[in-house]
Amino acid sequence: MPKYDAVVIGAGNGGLAAACRMAKAGKKTLLIERHNMPGGCASSFRRGRFEFETALHEICEWGTKENPGGCRRICDEFGLDIPWHMVPDNFRVITTASDGRMHIDATLPRTVTQFVNEMERLVPGCRKSIQDLFDLGTEFHAAGDYSLSVAGKTDPKYMQEHFPNFLRLGSYTVNRVFRAMKMPKLAQDIMNTYWGYLGVDADHLSFLQYVNMLWLYVNHGAWIPDKTSNELTTGLLECFRSMGGEVWMNCTATEILFDESKAVRGVKTTCGEVETKHVLCNMNQNMVYATMCPPEVVPERMVKLGNARTYSARMFVVYMGLDRSAEELGIRDYTVFLPTSADTAKEYESGKTIATNCNQVMVCYNVVNPGFSPEGTCVVSLTSTFMDDDWANVDPDDYVETKTAFAEKLIKLFEERYGVTVTPYIEELEIATPWTMCNYVNVPQGAAYGFELKDWDNMMPRMMMMGTEFPVKGLKFVGAASIRGDGYNSAIFSGDTLAKKTLAEMKAEEA
Ligand SMILES: Cc1cc2nc3c(=O)[nH]c(=O)nc-3n(C[C@H](O)[C@H](O)[C@H](O)COP(=O)(O)OP(=O)(O)OC[C@H]3O[C@@H](n4cnc5c(N)ncnc54)[C@H](O)[C@@H]3O)c2cc1C
Repeated sequence: MPKYDAVVIGAGNGGLAAACRMAKAGKKTLLIERHNMPGGCASSFRRGRFEFETALHEICEWGTKENPGGCRRICDEFGLDIPWHMVPDNFRVITTASDGRMHIDATLPRTVTQFVNEMERLVPGCRKSIQDLFDLGTEFHAAGDYSLSVAGKTDPKYMQEHFPNFLRLGSYTVNRVFRAMKMPKLAQDIMNTYWGYLGVDADHLSFLQYVNMLWLYVNHGAWIPDKTSNELTTGLLECFRSMGGEVWMNCTATEILFDESKAVRGVKTTCGEVETKHVLCNMNQNMVYATMCPPEVVPERMVKLGNARTYSARMFVVYMGLDRSAEELGIRDYTVFLPTSADTAKEYESGKTIATNCNQVMVCYNVVNPGFSPEGTCVVSLTSTFMDDDWANVDPDDYVETKTAFAEKLIKLFEERYGVTVTPYIEELEIATPWTMCNYVNVPQGAAYGFELKDWDNMMPRMMMMGTEFPVKGLKFVGAASIRGDGYNSAIFSGDTLAKKTLAEMKAEEA
């Protein structure tokens, strides 16, 4: 039986980062992927003369070569070198204020100063609260850097002295902090916009998670690879190979194998069994514990934890190749959030069913990368998130009709809310539903975001519990359902961090 120091299951962002870190440390590493290409969510596909980005609107924590964000630093270390484009503005949001009356149309620029100035122009009197928000982001970010520098073994006294707000507010929700800061309601409505990326309403969304994302986007900018996510993930795969890593594509891991002491001893795959003491799994732990491990090795606590967590946003995407340029169509923005209302709790509730869901984010890739599709054309995607598993109620016989009707609704709403006409110019159209995500990426309910980052289950407790979060000896989970939650940067971070933890354990075993 072939023997490896480590086996990584799944070549999504998290799995690729984990595999690269292990290979970089000189460990004999096998990466197993079900599909014939890497990426999971982070990929691309072709229809006619268009290449569509499967998921990425924008990556955060990237930054420039000279001033890289944490995620870029990790990928630089692996030798990734691909061209990127920076998104000029942070976002535009068009919606109705939570009071149900006022129309909001706000475009927030990059850099803290410009962002704060624009918010003050839009909502006079909010300057201090917005500046305070970014200052908190700076403190939280520094706390994260410190925690990383001491490998999570933080000194409570040092934390108290240097990062008191981090300790105080880390477990609060977004709205609770906004209220404590006395942020005017209209400013809250605008600042809440990123909830659409995080998939949890502002009454429950972890403030830490939110402020981390906001701070990273504003300070390091939002970025996209020149040639879709496929360039990023095939690039990382090449890095892994060039560091001596071995890849089995078209191969599915079906079982984790254990010895008598309930420690990992190998992996069973559709291409045969392999021996290893360390598995880094780029899958949702609930699925792995339930279907790939014998019940006696899974501690009851993990079953309870899995049941207590809430699956996060399930995506629905309409991908459109249009036979007019963005300019001709009047599309001038890269990202536009188009929720019905800025009342996030209401939006979360209506996002639970196919009948009521109307939220969407529009992205037009050509606005940032004019060469994204053939001249005189553009690519637009409309993404809507489902907050519950309503797609499970769709009869397979009604599936095509249901997804087509929902896509038509999104296109119509987009045309009305953004004030453009695209329907006559659709040359190619493809639709991905939570079923697609479930089938392609192999995530329960199509919840590609893992578990909701809210209340007691956010990045802080997950990171602090890292020692007990993976109680099965030799088995760790990376990716969206892991320590830092969803997003390219967080998945890559989790892969890197847990590979480093695995390397430390290997060192201890050798000693
Ligand atoms: C529509 C959409 C838009 C998004 N937009 C953004 C965005 O703008 N910015 C952002 O940062 N994030 C975005 N995200 C979130 C981001 O894509 C994910 O959080 C992240 O890519 C998940 O990475 P992962 O490591 O969990 O791997 P996944 O993407 O979940 O991939 C897991 C991989 O494991 C493989 N696999 C599973 N089971 C097995 C098995 N048994 N054997 C072998 N292989 C297996 C799968 O085939 C897959 O390749 C978006 C997601 C979606 C769906």
